[in-house]
Amino acid sequence: MLLIFVTPNHKNSKQMSKKHDPASAIQSLKHFGEFGGVNPSITDSATFTFMTEDEMINAFHGEAPGCFLYSRHWNPTNRYLSESLAAMEGTELAWVTGSGMAAITTTLLQLCNTGDHIITSVTTYGGTFAFLNNYLKKFNIDVTFVNIEDHDSIRKAIRPNTKVLYTESMTNPMLQISDIPALAEMIKGTDIKLVVDNTFTPMIIAPAQLGADIVVYSMTKFINGKNDMVAGAICASEQFINDISDVNTGTAMLLGPVLDPLRSSMVLKNLGTLHIRMQKHSENAMYLALKFKEAGTNFKYPGLPEHKNFELFEQLRNKDFGYGGMIAIDLETAERAAPFMELMQERGVGYHAVSLGYFKTLFSNSGKSTSSEVPEHIQEEMGLSQGLVRFSVGLDHDIERTWQLIKSCLVDLNYL
Ligand code: PLP
Repeated sequence: MLLIFVTPNHKNSKQMSKKHDPASAIQSLKHFGEFGGVNPSITDSATFTFMTEDEMINAFHGEAPGCFLYSRHWNPTNRYLSESLAAMEGTELAWVTGSGMAAITTTLLQLCNTGDHIITSVTTYGGTFAFLNNYLKKFNIDVTFVNIEDHDSIRKAIRPNTKVLYTESMTNPMLQISDIPALAEMIKGTDIKLVVDNTFTPMIIAPAQLGADIVVYSMTKFINGKNDMVAGAICASEQFINDISDVNTGTAMLLGPVLDPLRSSMVLKNLGTLHIRMQKHSENAMYLALKFKEAGTNFKYPGLPEHKNFELFEQLRNKDFGYGGMIAIDLETAERAAPFMELMQERGVGYHAVSLGYFKTLFSNSGKSTSSEVPEHIQEEMGLSQGLVRFSVGLDHDIERTWQLIKSCLVDLNYL
């Protein structure tokens, strides 16, 4: 039998003090290593021993608290990271997955049975859109795509078999802000669960504090921040995490999307600097947004009043972490976007690559890359321009220098 050092249960959302401070919640956890190490020991064992057969049988019935059975189910290193993520979100517990898509698909497949129905924002990450639009058909799970700002259309879409209302706090790539409290209110008293992907805005938005039932993450992005792995997380009630890890019926236990404990230990260390990184990403993105504004570029940044969701974002966000590191500019056509991105890479603005939350600036044409799974007519309906260049602004020390490089590309291509 193996027992772990676990910190006392942090407060759950109902006991939370008024201002949720995700950084202090993480910082106050004490996870010691085996010999008093300041980092918890890494448990790289797939399986665990039991001193008695009775204990093993009890563990399989979920009746051996503190025991670990098998790492597809739970692993001590994953437990440390899960507890830290739960503290950050103010949820009772979390579970860590091998990718963001694993977190999303595990959650949805746990909540829905054949014949059920999901309502989702039409603007989501392209992989999520493809899963909802193409993959769930094989389980006869029906999906209604809505403009997440159009609350009437959401209300009208609700059916007796609706099980999930799905959105992203800040949508990919349109950078809309979801009104999480209003969405939660809309489904109050029903069986519908509000699932929110908070990948773009960790610490800035706390979806569970605003009424979401389940928060999912691609930790590949800001949370890990190093672009050296893919990873994901599900933050939810203890009941939901127990459900997904149930040995007989749990989607996580049975489909096996668990995160490798070595990777978990890496994410855990990076989580300790997330608050500072988010502040710097936000500061740099705001700087560029103001420069794009000044230059008269058609830009999207929810941190400025020009954005239609600015007021809402002001109400929902944690003011300590800014408005996030994601910004987009519209160059109208893919033909205009392509040489701009190539030139920016050549001149050292950052990398022409998908993904986000890296310490270097990354940029890509969303319609042709991370949203290419969304058919062109739907891209058009949602207002996604073929020339939309999305930036994940890095941790650049001299952001004025970065702006000068971007500006030189715009000027030399005659876009300014
Ligand atoms: N959610 C969002 C908002 C994303 O941008 C992505 C990936 O780009 C994912 C989920 C999927 O994450 P992963 O690539 O870790 O599976």
